[in-house]
Amino acid sequence: LEYEGLTPEENAELRRAGVMLHSLEQLKAWARSNSLWPLTFGLACCAIEMMGTGAAHYDLDRFGIIFRASPRHADVMIVAGTVTKKMAPLLRRLYDQMAEPKWVVSMGVCATAGGPYVRSYSVLKGVDQVVPVDVYIPGCPPSPPALIYGLNLLQEKIRNEARGRKVARA
Ligand code: SF4
Repeated sequence: LEYEGLTPEENAELRRAGVMLHSLEQLKAWARSNSLWPLTFGLACCAIEMMGTGAAHYDLDRFGIIFRASPRHADVMIVAGTVTKKMAPLLRRLYDQMAEPKWVVSMGVCATAGGPYVRSYSVLKGVDQVVPVDVYIPGCPPSPPALIYGLNLLQEKIRNEARGRKVARA
């Protein structure tokens, strides 16, 4: 961030001295992006990969991403699995119980578009019909590194939005 009251040379001097200038919004976004708390919530086989990503080998905790058992404590919903029409209103209720700001990750082709069950009368053709999705992760199921990549993209998106950069909700 350039400090407006200073010349470019003075700003460069500050940077060389290790002084960082950020807006409060950027600092909050930096803190939030490094302490994402996803809701412990799985719907089908993709949830097994999500659980594996949170376990010791892939260790999501190292990114500050720690699963929470209550929507009141969570700010990220990872929709991991097939969303049935019967489950959709409950998923929406959980989303509504999460505090702002909050984000949604659609993990796998089922959550994104119905996947192998796209012709089923009982399956929703995309979770974005009931909640706004920030990141879509392809795959059936996505591997743990793919989920980590998607969560890293979400972190980047949160930081970029605080810098005033327009980021599409997709
Ligand atoms: Fe299961 Fe594949 Fe659907 Fe994931 S995308 S819930 S792995 S069928």
